Parts: sequence; structure tokens; C-alpha cells
Amino acid sequence: MQVSDDILGLKPYIPGKPIEETKREYGLNTVYKLASNENAIGVSPKVKQALIEAIDDLHRYPDASCYELKSKVSEVFNIPMNQISFGNGSNELIDLVIRIFCEKGDKILTSHAAFVAYRICAQAARVQTVFVDLDEDLKAAVEDILDAWSPEHKIVFIPNPNNPTGSYYSKDEVEQILHFFSEKDCLVVFDEAYVEFVRAVDYVSAAEYLNKYNNLIVMRTMSKVYGIAGLRLGFVLASAETIDLIDRVRNPFNVNSLAQVAAKVALEDTDYIKRGQEITWNGLDYFYENFDRMAIKYWSSQGNFVLFDCGKEAGPIVEELLKLGVIVRPVANYGYPNYIRLSVGLPEENEIAIKAIEKVLG
Ligand SMILES: *Cc1c(COP(=O)(O)O)cnc(C)c1O
Repeated sequence: MQVSDDILGLKPYIPGKPIEETKREYGLNTVYKLASNENAIGVSPKVKQALIEAIDDLHRYPDASCYELKSKVSEVFNIPMNQISFGNGSNELIDLVIRIFCEKGDKILTSHAAFVAYRICAQAARVQTVFVDLDEDLKAAVEDILDAWSPEHKIVFIPNPNNPTGSYYSKDEVEQILHFFSEKDCLVVFDEAYVEFVRAVDYVSAAEYLNKYNNLIVMRTMSKVYGIAGLRLGFVLASAETIDLIDRVRNPFNVNSLAQVAAKVALEDTDYIKRGQEITWNGLDYFYENFDRMAIKYWSSQGNFVLFDCGKEAGPIVEELLKLGVIVRPVANYGYPNYIRLSVGLPEENEIAIKAIEKVLG
């Protein structure tokens, strides 16, 4: 069978190194994974309990409409139910949106060092990705995004905040972007996977503008602050027209029943969410303090991770850190061979990571 060069050119996504694999390879008993921006505090006990109770219904198909969960999202985010749809992680929703709104030969627009899933899903759909360059703050200037746009670009993906840089767009910038695209035949996707971790006071969620812009899609995930990355659940908030199209194309049972139950409980568990935020903010401040002390350059982050500059090739440093039982994320695939992304862990994990970095970087 012949397949296209687009498909042959795809490489499997490289996730953060799994804990068990690292233990085996390096002969370690304890390993700290600060590589995938997961919630450090573990699964919420309330979610665990709900999952145990839901197991009894596993012989049934899940609710294809995710009714209970949709009601909860509608209530929590104050969005009508016909403006919400769910996916097997936001990754599936990225894939769906590209498949629905792009034809072969169309393009999508995003910035360099944006989430790699946009490019991979586009390429799988025979859609080219155009990247806008970043400035020194590792952020694509809004003017540069608007200048780069042309009518063949059918979707622009704006991760806000961005992974792996931690940068964000302010309220003024979000409004500038939405205003520009309001007159264009182009969808604007704001990927807000890290919205719950933002501390910048001039940030605004694009969800505030759903009433005003029909071509706006806001993506959220349950993989980060809500702590159920393993169950795979993301959702989109968009116009009723866009949601209708997504619901036509998605697989009817794309969200499994355990994910639906867990997500509903996770959205209600405000104590757990607060703890996740606090541990993240304290952890980031701890990283900044120590990077300052060691004169390591870093970019302050609105996510639950921080990018820092090793001052030399990061590959061997990642390897040395692995030997010390600390898994971090190299970002050479984003065009930054000298940088490392470090996720916030529990306080003791953060301390171990900083000690290891200090040892390895001298
Ligand atoms: C982690 C992350 C997501 C979440 O992806 P899921 O498929 O929902 O786990 C989405 N966007 C960005 C930028 C991320 O870093």
C-alpha cells in the first residue's frame, strides 16, 4: 500500500519518559517524573471514590452525549450546553477541528514552539502548518501573527498560556487577535490547557468572548489541574454551529464512561483544584529563586512548568539527570537544543530536582 509523504513524514510523538522504564534502564528504585506537566498531588480521593462506584456499569456503553458532564461544565463555566463538546483529550479535539475545517492543501497558522500536536494532526490531514517566529521572550508578537496570516490559513492555533515556553497573551492582545480574525474566513482556537495556573493579572480567557465571535473555539483539558490525564478528557467551548459540526464528525463514544464520571467530580472538587494551584505557584517560585541563585536563565511561566537554559546542549544533561532519577523534558524538537522544560512536582520532588540540576550543571 502506498501512503502519502505527509504520513510517511510523521514520527510517533515522544512523550515524557515513563517512570517504570526509567527505573529499569537506570537501575533506580525511586524516580521523579517532572516531564509531562501532570498534577503533582495525585488523583483526587473524591474522583477515586466515584470511579470505584462507576465500575459496576462498565458493561454498558457510555453516554454518547455526555449529558451529566455537559451540564456540569455548563454550570461551572456558565456556557449553554449546545456550545460544549468533549474529546478523548484535547488532542482529539485538535485533530477533529482540523479535519472538519481544513481541506487538503489548506494551511493552519501557529507560532514556533507551540504545542506539537497542532502540526502533527495537521500533517496527518495533509494540511501544512505555518509557524510564526518568536521574539526573545519566546513569544510570537501579535503583529507578526496577523502579518503572517493569509486566506489559505483556515485555523490559527493560539496556546494561551503556551507550552513549553510558559508565555501568555494579555487581555489587550487577545482582543486584538479576535478583532482581526472576526472579519476573516478563519477559525481562532485558543488552547487554554493551563488557564487555571495563570497568575498574570492582565490575562483573560478567550471564553469571555464566545458571545461576540462565532469563529472562536476555546479548548480546555482535564489533564492538568484536574489531575486525570490518564483518563483522557478535553472539551471545547464554541459557537453552537461549530459544536454541531464536531458532534457530527466525532466518534459517538469518544469519551469513555469513567472519564465522564471522573471529570464531573473533578470539576466540583474545588479544594483539590486550589491545592494544585498553590503547590504549582509555590513550586514555580522555588524554581525561580534557585535559578536566580545559580544564575540559570529561565522564562517565567503561566503554566505548571518552567523552561530554562542549560547554556550548552541539553541532551547529555537530561541523561545525567535521569541517572540521578529525575525525568525532565528536552525541547530540541521545538528548536531549542539548549533548553529543558521542568514541571512542578511536590515540594520534596522540586528540591531533589534542583539539587540534581545544581550537581549536573556545576
Ligand atoms: C497538556 C496540553 C494539552 C492537553 O492535552 P490532552 O490531550 O487534553 O491531554 C493541550 N494543549 C497544550 C498546549 C498542552 O500542553
